[in-house]
Amino acid sequence: MTVTSRSVSVERNRLKFASAHMATFHGECEPLHGHNYQVIVEVDGELTEDSWVWDFGALKKATRDIVDELDHKFLLQMESSLLNIAFAADNYTVAFAGRTYQFPASDVAPLPIDNTTAERLAEYIGKQLMRALQASGTNLISQLRIGVEEMPGQTGWCTLIP
Ligand SMILES: [Zn+2]
Repeated sequence: MTVTSRSVSVERNRLKFASAHMATFHGECEPLHGHNYQVIVEVDGELTEDSWVWDFGALKKATRDIVDELDHKFLLQMESSLLNIAFAADNYTVAFAGRTYQFPASDVAPLPIDNTTAERLAEYIGKQLMRALQASGTNLISQLRIGVEEMPGQTGWCTLIP
């Protein structure tokens, strides 16, 4: 018998953020609205000499540190090819087809993604988390999988390898 992988997962509870966004699709842009997002994290890896993949508490804290930066913010896809985004005098101005919004910088999470879909948010969180876990000195992670649930039963996923 062979064990093919070992993993730990943490999810939901305090791994959540409530944020506003407007995603684009098919050349259109959604109205401004919000979600109570929930995050699911799965880490695959080799066991440490103490037979851990990752400490649950440390994994939750590392994830919370990332999602707390998104909580109660407007999630802005800085690499959008459709939104016209400008920054001046500590305000973001976002324009699309005759609609113009202005947000104080303190209310915005500017993200290096092209759209604020759950899949891209999962990718953003996954990349940040992979960096944070690697910075703590391990090379035992083989895969990280992040789910961002926009609403119950509706989750975007991203899988990353180091
Ligand atoms: Zn939405």
